[in-house]
Amino acid sequence: MLVFRRICRFLTALGFAVLCAARPAACASVQDIRLGARDGANVRVVIDLSEKVAFKTFALTNPDRVVIDLPSANFAVKERDLPKKDYLNGVRLGKTDPKTARVVLEFNRGVAIKRSFTLAPQSGFQWRLVVDLELMAKTDGLKQVTTEWYDNSVAEEKKPAAAPARQDKPLIVLDPGHGGKDPGAIGVSGVYEKHLTLAMAKQLRALLEKTGRYRVKLTRETDVFIALYARRRFARSVNADLFISVHADSIKKPQTRGLSVYTLSEKASDKEAEKLAESENKVDLIAGIDLSGETQEVTDILIDLARRETNNHSSFFAERLMDEIRKEITVLPNSHRFAGFAVLKSPDVPSVLIEMGYLSNKEEERLLRQAGYREKLAKATVRAIDVYFAQKHKANFN
Ligand code: ZN
Repeated sequence: MLVFRRICRFLTALGFAVLCAARPAACASVQDIRLGARDGANVRVVIDLSEKVAFKTFALTNPDRVVIDLPSANFAVKERDLPKKDYLNGVRLGKTDPKTARVVLEFNRGVAIKRSFTLAPQSGFQWRLVVDLELMAKTDGLKQVTTEWYDNSVAEEKKPAAAPARQDKPLIVLDPGHGGKDPGAIGVSGVYEKHLTLAMAKQLRALLEKTGRYRVKLTRETDVFIALYARRRFARSVNADLFISVHADSIKKPQTRGLSVYTLSEKASDKEAEKLAESENKVDLIAGIDLSGETQEVTDILIDLARRETNNHSSFFAERLMDEIRKEITVLPNSHRFAGFAVLKSPDVPSVLIEMGYLSNKEEERLLRQAGYREKLAKATVRAIDVYFAQKHKANFN
């Protein structure tokens, strides 16, 4: 395999891209990166590729960056050969892991991703990935933070997507915690939190869809790493009506067990809740993502009045959820808790985080591994969601 890859890379360098088609995952290479600006505000980035590849794009602030991840790609182009532009501080090429190539474009002002798509070979060009960006005035604050979501799928000549229209059925975004290089908590039997959260989210989705009353989207469908901010931004970008992050906890005290549900608060309800939020929030550090720019955004948002209404809704749902779950299983005392989970910080999407139980407790871990037990939790959650949407107008009076 290694020899094949080497031959492949050699041939690719010589321009024999066709020969590599049999092993696209090993061979895709970034041939060139071009940038062009129109009317000073719209910038188009074109990445010339030897093969069709999956990609993911997102924007970060402080400094303002656009990140383009290309799994299964290598760079044939050198950093020093890349274009220099007056709106650009620089372009960096790197690897987030041995298989994933990362292009980071750093701008000297705010930038938003408008659309991204791939183009099939034509007019003498090979495969191209096109990312259209909009440059902002430096004072544009919040608006500059935009995320384009591709979930590693290849979009071919995708028409620019209009903002998702509000539809009648509420949209629920389920967020299976952790994934990829981040396993989350590890249970006493060796089970990974990331697998349990995904299994639970899929069971819950199946039940919700069966009712015919809801639309459901997952932040991840597979065992992939997704940063926390990307999860909540995904919920915002699809206009979610409710965001539910699913986790399982682990602590040093093996006898502790029970489910709890968290809503956002800058002040944690107790030391343990604070520690938990801290450890869940650390996830982004694993990917080396600088979140310093996030804090300002979040601080700004937190003073917004809209935030309070969203919080009321989140809390109202958390209470309904505990009402239903208490009927089924053991819950922790004060089972509705508060902490500063990064994933809950959408200003306008009611959000809760469920800690399904403790993987450090032998019995609870055994139960959480059982589909039947998770089904019980999922059914209770569906009932709570029903109550929430029937009564959420009451939340504002809480
Ligand atoms: Zn977790």
